[in-house]
Amino acid sequence: RQQMARGLPKQKPVAGVKQVIVVASGKGGVGKSTTAVNLALAIMANDSSRTVGLLDADVYGPSIPKLMNLTGNPQLTDNNLMIPLTNYGVPCMSMGFLVEDTAPIVWRGLMVMSAIERLLRQVHWGSLDYLVVDMPPGTGDVQLSITQNIPIAGAVIVSTPQDIALLDARRGAEMFKKVNVPVLGLVENMSVFQCPNCNHQTHIFGSEGARRVAETLGVAFLGDIPLHLSIRETSDVGQPVVVSAPDSSEAKAYRKVASAV
Ligand code: ADP
Repeated sequence: RQQMARGLPKQKPVAGVKQVIVVASGKGGVGKSTTAVNLALAIMANDSSRTVGLLDADVYGPSIPKLMNLTGNPQLTDNNLMIPLTNYGVPCMSMGFLVEDTAPIVWRGLMVMSAIERLLRQVHWGSLDYLVVDMPPGTGDVQLSITQNIPIAGAVIVSTPQDIALLDARRGAEMFKKVNVPVLGLVENMSVFQCPNCNHQTHIFGSEGARRVAETLGVAFLGDIPLHLSIRETSDVGQPVVVSAPDSSEAKAYRKVASAV
């Protein structure tokens, strides 16, 4: 009733999904998708009884297929719902499964909206405790439309410690507050570079920025993820660090964030 009073469209839950967690960032390239994937896997690693799915809502630049080492087209159920592709125990759905790899994604306006609508409503998830959604970067119409269409348990905002990325992250946090989506907190990605040879640590993008912004915004600081070669390398071959090197300090950093979510 509160929503109706504010004039927002009526939200409808995603069938079979208990909680939707969106992973967002103010700008691109800060590691949002890498964080979304490892977060989904870390939620499961922390408690194997949980079922977790991944929805790639980054329709302009879908990266879940590559990160999760998945290709192919989803099969359809009898009533035309798309069956997610699964790897590492995580069912995934992405625009990347629906369009050719090489096709230019010139989705505009209504096309993007209908793609999003399809990804939100026409997927046979089965029963999930968590659906982790990799949002498009920024705070545009697509992001707004997602937040207005489905009930969201909370948003995780990813940022680098760099000033400009933090500024954008702040804008993202404010958008979620405006549409009454609880901000679960901020993750600082690429927080510190650790040399694989000598272990020397360098704060390439500055330090502690996200922690300070989280304090100013009054939202939780969920943890930091180091800038580490193994995170990039495992991502590139579709073997996320949480599953391919579960005992590494990088995997533990993601699991710490997952336990704070
Ligand atoms: P976004 O989704 O914000 O555009 P991505 O998750 O695609 O960003 O990450 C951008 C690039 O940075 C990718 O090559 C990814 O492997 C790399 N990357 C992300 N986080 C880290 C990290 N903590 N350490 C090393 N490389 C990272």
